[in-house]
Amino acid sequence: MQHTHSARTSAAGTPRPRSVVVAGNGMVGERFLAELARTRLLDRIHLVVIGEEPVPAYDRVHLSARVEGATVEDLSMADPAIRQHPNVTEHLGRRVDAIDRSNRTVVLDDGATVAYDDLVLATGSRPFVPPIPGHDLPGCHVYRTIGDLDGIVTDASDASRGVVIGGGLLGLEAANALRLLGLDVQVIEFAPRLMPRQLDQLASDALRSRVEELGLTVRTDTATAALCPGDDGRVARLEFTDGSVVDADIVVFSAGIRARDELARDAGLDVGERGGVAVGPSLTSSDPHVHAIGECASVDGMVYGLVGPGYTMARVLAERLAGGEVTFDGADLSTQLKLLGVDVASFGDAMGTTDGARAVVYDDPITQIYRKLVISRDGTTLLGGILVGDASGHDRLLRLVLSGRPVDAPFAALAAPTVEDAGAVAGELHDDDLVCTCNNVTKGQVCAAVTEQGCRTLPALTAATNAGTGCGSCTALCKRILDTEMAAAGLEVDTSLCPHFPQTRQELYEIVRVKGHRTFDELLADVGRGSGCATCKPTIASILATITNEYVLEPQHAPLQDTNDRFLANIQKDGTYSVVPRVPGGEITPDKLMVIAEVAKEFDLYTKITGGQRIDLLGARLEQLPAIWRRLVDAGFESGHAYGKALRTVKSCVGRTWCRYGVQDSTTLAIDLEERYRGLRSPHKIKMAVSGCSRECAEAQGKDVGVIATENGWNLYVAGNGGMKPQHAVLLATDLSTEDLARAIDRFLAYYVRTADRLERTATWLNRIEGGIEHVRAVVIDDSLGLADELEAQMAHHVATHACEWKATLSDPERLAMFTSYVDDDRPDASLVHVRERGQKRPATDEERRTLPLLDLGAMR
Ligand SMILES: Cc1cc2nc3c(=O)[nH]c(=O)nc-3n(C[C@H](O)[C@H](O)[C@H](O)COP(=O)(O)OP(=O)(O)OC[C@H]3O[C@@H](n4cnc5c(N)ncnc54)[C@H](O)[C@@H]3O)c2cc1C
Ligand code: SF4
Repeated sequence: MQHTHSARTSAAGTPRPRSVVVAGNGMVGERFLAELARTRLLDRIHLVVIGEEPVPAYDRVHLSARVEGATVEDLSMADPAIRQHPNVTEHLGRRVDAIDRSNRTVVLDDGATVAYDDLVLATGSRPFVPPIPGHDLPGCHVYRTIGDLDGIVTDASDASRGVVIGGGLLGLEAANALRLLGLDVQVIEFAPRLMPRQLDQLASDALRSRVEELGLTVRTDTATAALCPGDDGRVARLEFTDGSVVDADIVVFSAGIRARDELARDAGLDVGERGGVAVGPSLTSSDPHVHAIGECASVDGMVYGLVGPGYTMARVLAERLAGGEVTFDGADLSTQLKLLGVDVASFGDAMGTTDGARAVVYDDPITQIYRKLVISRDGTTLLGGILVGDASGHDRLLRLVLSGRPVDAPFAALAAPTVEDAGAVAGELHDDDLVCTCNNVTKGQVCAAVTEQGCRTLPALTAATNAGTGCGSCTALCKRILDTEMAAAGLEVDTSLCPHFPQTRQELYEIVRVKGHRTFDELLADVGRGSGCATCKPTIASILATITNEYVLEPQHAPLQDTNDRFLANIQKDGTYSVVPRVPGGEITPDKLMVIAEVAKEFDLYTKITGGQRIDLLGARLEQLPAIWRRLVDAGFESGHAYGKALRTVKSCVGRTWCRYGVQDSTTLAIDLEERYRGLRSPHKIKMAVSGCSRECAEAQGKDVGVIATENGWNLYVAGNGGMKPQHAVLLATDLSTEDLARAIDRFLAYYVRTADRLERTATWLNRIEGGIEHVRAVVIDDSLGLADELEAQMAHHVATHACEWKATLSDPERLAMFTSYVDDDRPDASLVHVRERGQKRPATDEERRTLPLLDLGAMR
């Protein structure tokens, strides 16, 4: 390529198509190509892509996946359709060395020139290496490209000690890579805390505790004076300004980034005060033919070191080049990511610098979960926040910040970890609320993609809007909006579980059952893709638990569980947990009642009788759970599974034993049923009840499985529901003997857990399945599908293998450590504010909190 293309006329004098040259094929450069294709400008131009790296664009954000075996192809973001487009020429492994603005050409590293009408600089940044003596010794690395990482992997093969200089976001990513390579890792941070730009001191402390638990050493307030070589000339030691030293075989610099603006500087273009090609909201530089996007751009003086704003720039510039008027008006600098397996998010005014800002803090030193919400002086608006250890609800919180709307929910409840219900969130969104914060996609745009662009599946929606292509946390929400819009238009809804599993829950259940997969990873490797998400992980955890009945906190299953299942307790709005021991059939002896009373008194727990005829003990702190449960288990109680999607209770009346109307022993049957199905994991919770006669005091016809005594035996009702959408149960069979009743319930429950969708109660399931109750009756009573033996065998396996999860946990020191690793400290525990009412404690309301002394934001920074 030693010739010059003329962009304006050919040798024959005919006009050439407009030539757009893109320098840099990183994440933003690649997104720009996709945007050119989307706007159809690609069909009208000649596009030349020049990338210095030898491979096409890849996912730099997930670079460390490479040390876990990800191939270049796995990380690749390159769209083959764009490469095959006749208007596209690509030069990889080639660098643009200069811009000749007067001739409107770029000069490549081999001297060749390429003409442009529009030059797009997407050259990203380079890691900053402080000029410390010895910084360039062999064994010193940076962490930006696949090439950098491969160099680290090679050096790590005969190394044992690694040091990362820089405890920011990228430094911790690099530390993770070194850890995965089996090195002892030290992180050296100049500032007094990790991630000083995103986290306050308490958040950083929580992160640090977790990082140190993984075996990494963290030194803050430490400045490196020199790197010293060993006898072989390679780096061997670091000396710090306080005189201390640390040995190291590998050093990775992660001390910040600098925009790659050298081409612009050399060509005499304006650059920002702090570096970066100076552009305005149009993304065009001081030369109207040269534009800049991504990390190399300084937009009105601001360089964005995150990929989300770069993607927005890519869209804006493509639309402008296609004739649009859109501008880049700044972007949110929120960060949400997993660092060394720890969820970390920082958004809005995270440090509380707004005048009069106050904070609501949830700070649990045992789980090392720290969540701070910064609220306006008048207590109405959310300004920002920091989440460490549990970033649940992040997207919703960020939306509240971005919308600036007054918040209805109590801030204390918002600060506590939550299990987000995508359906509810989808319902409360306005059209201009962001759904995908990585790519700035609003609910209105998602809806329009369905209604106007004809997207019918999640992948199609993702391709059309880019929603879900960043961190992926909004995919469940996108799916909910897609389903709602399609249902509203009378269209059949896409049933894939999530982007990682194209199958339905029902299909996955069958695959696990037939192929005998025992872990999430086995199933993912067989029929899934990617690494899983908050939708598929708990769903598959539940399927595995139903089929294998293995302890849900086994190391291979524990990371899949949601917060409630992880701690075998229901988290409450104030961040404490509830304890609900099983009381089969609602029958309890005075001795057991006394144990409950003693436990409640000793641990100062609020007690309440539940609608399911048991006793809820509320207000337990996480580290108290093992001691509470030890007392209860010793007294013969077992887990009531109030935290799980599983059988809850079998409610009953006293039946013929005491009641003069009773025709059967409803209490004994209820106890037998509860002991038979206890712990059965299912798509949603299951409630049951048994009444001793048709007066129905146990309200069995509002339950998933309801039994009502008759003179001749039992009538079986199914698929009743209380709650938000009450539904009367439907009669499935009449006058069954106790034995036939148990068989019918075995089959019914086994068929339901096998065929229901994720989070589908029996009532919704029955309403959905073809043939309704007639079909279920045919399967359960008449064995029309020939499944009866299988369904019964599955339930027999469940009954035979049942074990109390709390009992198992109390005898497993490793699991117990999760609850008992109490670190004594004197941080303000603002999340646990209680007042006393009617002789018991309860969480303080927001109003009551407001009257308590305000938290000192300065102290928390
Ligand atoms: C380990 C790591 C983790 C990260 N994690 C996150 C995260 O969690 N969230 C987040 O938002 N961001 C994260 N980032 C930042 C994110 O990767 C960047 O914001 C994004 O890659 C910027 O895209 P870009 O295209 O502007 O630059 P780049 O992706 O750096 O691409 C620029 C490309 O241009 C090439 N180039 C440079 N000069 C020339 C030239 N003269 N000629 C030809 N080619 C040239 C470069 O070699 C490079 O391939 C992370 C970055 C790293 C390294
Ligand atoms: S349902 Fe019938 S047996 Fe049970 S308490 Fe009521 S009246 Fe008595």
